[in-house]
Amino acid sequence: MLKLILVSYIPVYSISRSNTGNIVDDLNASDGFFFRICEWVDTGISRQQYEQLRDLLRRQLSTELPCIRRRDNRLQKLTQLWPRLIDCCRKSCMAYTGQYDSLHTCKYCGEPRYRSPGKPFQCFVYIPLCQRLLRQYSMPRRAHTLQTYCRPFFERPIDAIPCNLTDWWDGRRYRELRRDGLFTQYTDIALQLLLDGVQLVERGNHTCTPVISINYNLPPAIRYQKHNILLNLVIPGPRKYKDLDSYLQPLVEELEELGCGVEAYNAYKNENFILRAWPVVVTGMLLLSIRFCCCYCSLLVCCRPAASCSRHYHNYYHIS
Ligand SMILES: [Zn+2]
Repeated sequence: MLKLILVSYIPVYSISRSNTGNIVDDLNASDGFFFRICEWVDTGISRQQYEQLRDLLRRQLSTELPCIRRRDNRLQKLTQLWPRLIDCCRKSCMAYTGQYDSLHTCKYCGEPRYRSPGKPFQCFVYIPLCQRLLRQYSMPRRAHTLQTYCRPFFERPIDAIPCNLTDWWDGRRYRELRRDGLFTQYTDIALQLLLDGVQLVERGNHTCTPVISINYNLPPAIRYQKHNILLNLVIPGPRKYKDLDSYLQPLVEELEELGCGVEAYNAYKNENFILRAWPVVVTGMLLLSIRFCCCYCSLLVCCRPAASCSRHYHNYYHIS
């Protein structure tokens, strides 16, 4: 769980590191060092190795790294991102959200929710999406990138059909959504949601299901880079979920809020605006489905920068 929380913070740092006048630039040397250690830890060291690193730095260089718990707290304060721990079934059938919020046993397997009063058997981490989008617009260079790349698509007449498909913004669905009154401001964000089961270990049958968002307002060349992928939640194992909607409930609530619009600040233009975002593409099979072929007709797209499946009205884009 710690690892998941940490991964979600690193993008904020990675983005801001390349900007001027923002989070990291405003940090003192101690916080800057702290962020870089956190990013390095993200490359994949265990909790035990982190403790060994702490011990080594303390003995050899008299440098004190925070313990894991304090590290997380400090990271949360610096990034202002607060992940939510939400109860779910210990066999991962469902999450106790929405209409199931007050249940004490799993609706599907009957397993109790709590180990002891107030202490659930299992939780999953939900990382709020809205705060991260607001954060990105609060950074001048990132705000500039977000509004620059997709601006030509917004300035194009609604019924104009482009000669070439270069991105989702060239597609028919975008024109339909504009006719429905969406995407009226070039700050409006289009999101792709992806989820798929992932086998964590070679042996055994333990799977988890990450749910991630891709920001289509970023240029295709960078939108699939690791630090631009937004991890929303991870449905824990060991088994596959039985009620996906219950896990997606917090994300759906946030997307409803974003669809209506939230107050935001554009650091590049130095002005307030209403930020709106909608999920426009939802896929399973994670990157496989957009990297190789249409799930239905096996349209191969690897060798082309973009391709359209006219039979199923899907567009596919090269990831690299
Ligand atoms: Zn259950």
